[in-house]
Amino acid sequence: MTSEMHPFLAEVMTLRGGKDVLECYQCGTCSASCPALPDMAHGPRRLMYMLQNGMEQEVLSSPDIWRCVSCYSCMNRCPRGIEITVLFSELRRLAVQKGYVEDKEAEFGQAFTVTLAQHGRQFEPELLTRYYWRVRDVAGLLGMVPLGLKMLLKGKLPFKAESIQEPQVLQKAGVIPPKHTLPGGKWLERVVTLMSGVLGFVDALVKLVSRKKEAQHG
Ligand code: SF4
Ligand code: SF4
Repeated sequence: MTSEMHPFLAEVMTLRGGKDVLECYQCGTCSASCPALPDMAHGPRRLMYMLQNGMEQEVLSSPDIWRCVSCYSCMNRCPRGIEITVLFSELRRLAVQKGYVEDKEAEFGQAFTVTLAQHGRQFEPELLTRYYWRVRDVAGLLGMVPLGLKMLLKGKLPFKAESIQEPQVLQKAGVIPPKHTLPGGKWLERVVTLMSGVLGFVDALVKLVSRKKEAQHG
């Protein structure tokens, strides 16, 4: 590593799949193999060029890293053996970690990751609350309420987050990101707490009513 190396390039080279970024000689095989290229603004070849030039903002806010469908075509065909697919997965994680999020797919990915980091597994009511809050779509969130309630009452969704015993074990192993690296506004956290409180209250109410019914019939 030279002293002139751009800090972002140096960071990328420490990521999984990133150590050979400077080996890319822009042959374009990756972009020519990429089924998602029509939906991308740059494609993998140009993203590699941008990485080599330390263009953090442009790469991490690019929707392209979220349009990648992880098909491995580019990685299998790259003549320099660069692990492009693995690196793109790392770039998505880094984009979430650093708060570079520009489109709805990325917002959903971020909501998914944050919820996972809280509990070690998904909790759909929280995931949707985080997602719709981030995309500023209150109507969308309210539109999900009837279906959500139906599923909750039929037992298809849990009322409470079922956290794994030690989520920090997964965080240490790098499977899920540590909480302190995740962005999130305090208002969003208040809304999530309120939502969890309301669901907890409804859960207790439902259990109380069903216990009373059982007592009456028993
Ligand atoms: S196939 Fe490999 S060497 Fe060619 S442009 Fe893509 S990353 Fe670079
Ligand atoms: S892994 Fe991603 S970037 Fe590579 S070819 Fe497939 S969709 Fe394109």
